[in-house]
Amino acid sequence: MAQKEDVFKKIVSHAKEYGFVFPSSEIYDGLGAVYDYGQNGVELKNNIKRYWWESMTLLHENIVGIDSAIFMHPTIWKASGHVDAFNDPLIDNKDSKKRYRADVLIEDEIAKIEEKIDKEVAKAAKRFGDSFDEAMFRQTNGRVLEHQQKRDVLHSRYEKAMNDNDLKELRQIIEDYAIVDPISGTRNWTDVRQFNLMFKTQMGSSADATMDVYLRPETAQGIFVNFLNVQKTGRMRLPFGIAQIGKAFRNEIVARQFIFRMREFEQMEMQFFVRPGEELNYFEMWKETRMKWHKALGMGDEKYRYHDHEKLAHYANAATDIEFQMPFGFKEVEGIHSRTNFDLSQHEKFSGKKIQYFDPELNESYTPYVIETSIGVDRMFLSVLCSSYEEQQLEGGDTRVVLHLPKALAPVKCAILPLVKKDGMPEKAREIMDMLKFDFACQYEEKDSVGKRYRRQDAIGTPFCITIDGQTVEDNTVTLRDRDTMQQERVAISELPRIIGEACSLNNLLKKLV
Ligand code: ATP
Repeated sequence: MAQKEDVFKKIVSHAKEYGFVFPSSEIYDGLGAVYDYGQNGVELKNNIKRYWWESMTLLHENIVGIDSAIFMHPTIWKASGHVDAFNDPLIDNKDSKKRYRADVLIEDEIAKIEEKIDKEVAKAAKRFGDSFDEAMFRQTNGRVLEHQQKRDVLHSRYEKAMNDNDLKELRQIIEDYAIVDPISGTRNWTDVRQFNLMFKTQMGSSADATMDVYLRPETAQGIFVNFLNVQKTGRMRLPFGIAQIGKAFRNEIVARQFIFRMREFEQMEMQFFVRPGEELNYFEMWKETRMKWHKALGMGDEKYRYHDHEKLAHYANAATDIEFQMPFGFKEVEGIHSRTNFDLSQHEKFSGKKIQYFDPELNESYTPYVIETSIGVDRMFLSVLCSSYEEQQLEGGDTRVVLHLPKALAPVKCAILPLVKKDGMPEKAREIMDMLKFDFACQYEEKDSVGKRYRRQDAIGTPFCITIDGQTVEDNTVTLRDRDTMQQERVAISELPRIIGEACSLNNLLKKLV
């Protein structure tokens, strides 16, 4: 565990050192849970967004995009339930003066017990070798059963308290299980209170005409309130979807784990509108479609899993998360929810406008049901970064840090490196750059030894380095170095667009999805 945390720290500093992610307002000592993307980060982020957007809008004839405003009429958030219920239970430790989410403290306690069980299992697996029967061991080992029972009792108490919104009981659980503040190590806790996660601000200039507005905590509502606009102007027939990428804001109580939990972040959401009664089939379809999208990146199928929600929101009839194995455990990257007709009905009720779809096949009007796929760009970015990062020991005692980014997502596709700054090499290199730059993000570098330049490109995940040497000037060939294998081959300049194109093309990635 400690080792994994070390790796995560290294990834965070690597992200800063190589221009991927900077803490916001750094020269003013930063701003909690807000980050800026640097020169390489923005390219990687844009490529992730493009992959998602094109997979939605190009590969599905019945999905179109929109870009709705961040500010919306405040009643929207009343209708959606966010004003009344978008809360987290918070608790303060009086000694450390730190604030925590009570539910997260309890979940961490549950995870600790689960870890103890896993350790017993791992120990036994080592002892018994090939003859080990894990299922049997879990069912019969005394210590495992004891831990399991403790975990189940805690889990059901916790689940009931959350379902009942019982803040006193959450406090009591923290007391009964002697949960301490990880910083002060004390149990000097305040009561548990509800905390609304929406940021509020005022719109309008004169004092008497101002209106409280919220920074949107999700992009989805912009889609719901435009349902009729898009359906009518696009002459859309059910089933159809509306996709959107945009910023969302949540005043998270505890901001942890770098860009995993931010106060300003970006979402890619798609609402798929279907006939009532057909929603669970589409839910299954979208579960599969979205998993395929993740796995096509080739970061390792074993790093993904579904986590079905046990506790459903009152308006949902199915929900699952796609989790990714981060260095700090399996964590939600994307949510897929069957939201019934809750949102559209609420907006109909609160706006007083009819929001219905006339189904020409059934010859009747109804409120469509909705399947939502909702993924955080930043969490996706983090999963790509974490799974790509490697510190490699090379022959001869050397080491290198390399980002094995999916090639279609890499910020720079090829580096163009004249071996030396003379003998016509820079000129030839510029010619190659001028040929490639319209199709690929290229970087021209002539400073330092070529070895050092390779290392810099490895560190930002550039799939190819093209080296221009004496022979290039004579026969129009270059060496092409592969980031992952470090193999170099001599190829004709005229071959470069094809080789780089095939390896880095977003289209080839999209083709895996159909
Ligand atoms: P969590 O339980 O981790 O707070 P959530 O279930 O509230 O997440 P949703 O409301 O389903 O998240 O949002 C959809 C997606 O938006 C999440 O899967 C995640 O990728 C992203 N997301 C949500 N909150 C944040 C945040 N504070 N920072 C970065 N990404 C976020």
